[in-house]
Amino acid sequence: MHRFRYQGDVLFVEEVSTAVLAEKYGTPLYVYSAGTVLDHYDRLVASLRALDPLVCYAVKANSNLALLRLLAARGSGFDLVSGGELYRVLQAGGDPARCTFAGVGKTDREIEEALEAGIYSFIVESREELSAINRAAVRLRKKAPVALRVNPDVGARTHAKIKTGVAESKFGIPAEEIEEVYRELPRFSHLRLRGMQIHIGSQIRDVEPFAEAVGRVIPLVAMARDRFGAEFFDIGGGLGIAYEEALQSGDPGWWESKTGWATPARYAQRLLPLLSPLGLRTIVEPGRLLVGNAGILLTRVLYRKDGPSRKFVIVDAGMNDLIRPALYGSFHQIVPVIRRGGDPIEADVVGPVCESGDRFAESRRMPPVTAGDLLAIFSAGAYGFSMASQYNSRPRPAEVLVEGAKHRLIRRRESYEDLVRGEPGAEEEPGGPQGERTPKESHELANG
Ligand SMILES: *Cc1c(COP(=O)(O)O)cnc(C)c1O
Repeated sequence: MHRFRYQGDVLFVEEVSTAVLAEKYGTPLYVYSAGTVLDHYDRLVASLRALDPLVCYAVKANSNLALLRLLAARGSGFDLVSGGELYRVLQAGGDPARCTFAGVGKTDREIEEALEAGIYSFIVESREELSAINRAAVRLRKKAPVALRVNPDVGARTHAKIKTGVAESKFGIPAEEIEEVYRELPRFSHLRLRGMQIHIGSQIRDVEPFAEAVGRVIPLVAMARDRFGAEFFDIGGGLGIAYEEALQSGDPGWWESKTGWATPARYAQRLLPLLSPLGLRTIVEPGRLLVGNAGILLTRVLYRKDGPSRKFVIVDAGMNDLIRPALYGSFHQIVPVIRRGGDPIEADVVGPVCESGDRFAESRRMPPVTAGDLLAIFSAGAYGFSMASQYNSRPRPAEVLVEGAKHRLIRRRESYEDLVRGEPGAEEEPGGPQGERTPKESHELANG
């Protein structure tokens, strides 16, 4: 349940007016509610309590250090998919012993970094990767904890680009091959099979695909437990959030009415009878569920343009800031920061980027807006900033965290200098990042 609500006609996040935030920090602006993130985390942990749960937040959904710190302090672990994410988690004071490391293309360097850091488990996605991790473990004289990611071949009803548990996808090891892998495992002197994992996709709103996948893989998990002493079953992330009625979903009654939806409670209730008999620790890897509805993107209307067949509302945020509508055709609810009366309009909400796909909403019925008005794009906390780019040489937006009546900048707005950083010949900001360079790099820069 999120904490974005109108007080009178002004949209508030927790106890802070979003209009005040837009004035203070400028737009486009990502705004996150700390209370919402923690509420989602607590609900998930509470609902899975009987299963000795470890929640590993999927860092790729939103990797801002302040959010990682918030979750680390609450006891969260982290699900990583790159060396860069491990670096972020360590910077944020996260515990590597509560981290899993998934991904189909881990490099030797990333594997070594994760081994040195002492992560809880690698999530292995192919048989060749097993060899690579074993080799790295031999080099570092360590025993590498691994889990096999099983592709259960379950089709969850979600967008094709975020479906990961079907046979055609690149993820995991096909269920039919797992027993063969079990037979090969003893050959790897420096591996220890610590667990098993599945992750069937993202934005899944129905409990059944999870239950189907878990049910299909349980016999293999039991085998791993009995033969190799595996201690956990990681059932992945993927729980969906509200997009269409995102504002309304802040109300607990809204969730009660959506009986077909996989809330943490319903998810746990359905999976508990399947998982309890295993007697293993359960890991979940939620990304979107924790942060998706905990963030909005504030944007200001620059122009109205009423074309012959369509009306356009042109805003100062673009697809570089929030790519989901352009990439997945996804829906985001858009509401005014200050509600006013007047006849609704039907318009496309578009950004300034030179692409027709730079559109946040198509033929959307919305309250009348004029240049200068502020809009809030909902459900932008997950896969928002973390997928942002500088396309069209647009500095990435600032990010702000709200906790009760307090708000603070957790990432400053990028500058033009940020756009050219690292490119030879770029002018440096005074007191810029000179100190971060090795002498050799400085020499190369100075000498073109
Ligand atoms: C992306 C990802 C997640 C998180 O998915 P959500 O839909 O955001 O919960 C979890 N585990 C793995 C391996 C992932 O790649």
